[in-house]
Amino acid sequence: MQFNTYTVAGARVAVWLVNHPAPAPPELTAALREHDVHEPAATAADAAALRPWAARLRAVFEAGAVPAKAELADALLVAADCRPRLVSHGAGQPFHFHYAPVQTGLAPRVRALTAAGLAHVIDGGDGARLRACARAGCDVAFLDTSRNGRRHFCSVRCANQVNVANHRQRQRPA
Ligand SMILES: [Zn+2]
Ligand SMILES: [Zn+2]
Repeated sequence: MQFNTYTVAGARVAVWLVNHPAPAPPELTAALREHDVHEPAATAADAAALRPWAARLRAVFEAGAVPAKAELADALLVAADCRPRLVSHGAGQPFHFHYAPVQTGLAPRVRALTAAGLAHVIDGGDGARLRACARAGCDVAFLDTSRNGRRHFCSVRCANQVNVANHRQRQRPA
């Protein structure tokens, strides 16, 4: 699966929301703009409306097995009223999916986009790459885009902490 496409942008926005569950509106706007979301200007109401949604997105990353992730993501598609349409913004412009009409407002569009993004990753056979960091006490979610798909930590820092702890464990006399 290509992880740099607009199709996967929804999954990346989902990762961002899970890791920033209470963003300031300008912060949210910047993150959405970075992922090419249309008309990304977020209000305080938009940010507040997405808070419970971030918790639902998190459940997909934290679910242990792909069938559980798929079941949760499928429920998100329904909850977000995700209705993909093929849209072009003018003659000669490329067609792409919109998952909710622009006039529905930003929060509903972000819900539909993120639900679709997670669903696309799972549909692409990469559901197991939607992960939460394996270090106890770290709750960062990530999309594992490594070649072999075996990254278990959100960062080198978390991986090192766990490696050091494991090493100390082995060094302890029985
Ligand atoms: Zn568009
Ligand atoms: Zn971590």
